[in-house]
Amino acid sequence: MASQEIETLAAALSRLPGLGPRSARRAVLWLVKRRENALGQIIEALQAVQDRLVECDVCGNVDTQNPCGICADPRRDVKSLCVVEDVSDLWALDRAKLFTGRYHVLGGRLSALDGVRPDDLSIGALLDRVADRSPAEGAGAVEEVVLAMNATLEGQTTAHYLAERLEEFPVRITQLAHGLPVGGELDYLDEGTLAQALRARRPVG
Ligand SMILES: [Zn+2]
Repeated sequence: MASQEIETLAAALSRLPGLGPRSARRAVLWLVKRRENALGQIIEALQAVQDRLVECDVCGNVDTQNPCGICADPRRDVKSLCVVEDVSDLWALDRAKLFTGRYHVLGGRLSALDGVRPDDLSIGALLDRVADRSPAEGAGAVEEVVLAMNATLEGQTTAHYLAERLEEFPVRITQLAHGLPVGGELDYLDEGTLAQALRARRPVG
């Protein structure tokens, strides 16, 4: 029977994506064995995340500043807006260093199964940005909206829904090329594949 401290930490870690109770216990054991060296670093890094990271009011990115570094960067092109499901997708695309515009994080995908409806996602704020009702973009700023949803059924359903909602605006709507593997999540793709999908993006419809 492990101590209460170990049980508590293992239970907390087992909630992380990809970690079940078994690997959580293994991680705890690893940490206990290295508490002189590795543990301090991890505690410091976690504390910094807790203290300094905030969600960007404009795009939903997570950064140490609000608006985030991307939204605040005057070199980023305000004409192009890339819509992603999650912050991890934004980071993956930005690592590929091909897209020079700005982003919009939906905060998930439409899902009948999980009961995620349009109102649960950051769609109103997206429409506001495209329609110039948001102070973040200048008048008539957005000319292209890139729908960079995952190549999953729910991702594509979300993209179709967004394309319909965006139809009333005078913007070009494109989506990532389908070099993406079916069921592929952006986060797991290598940067070359992502860059290729972005370069070969095509109009929706
Ligand atoms: Zn931002």
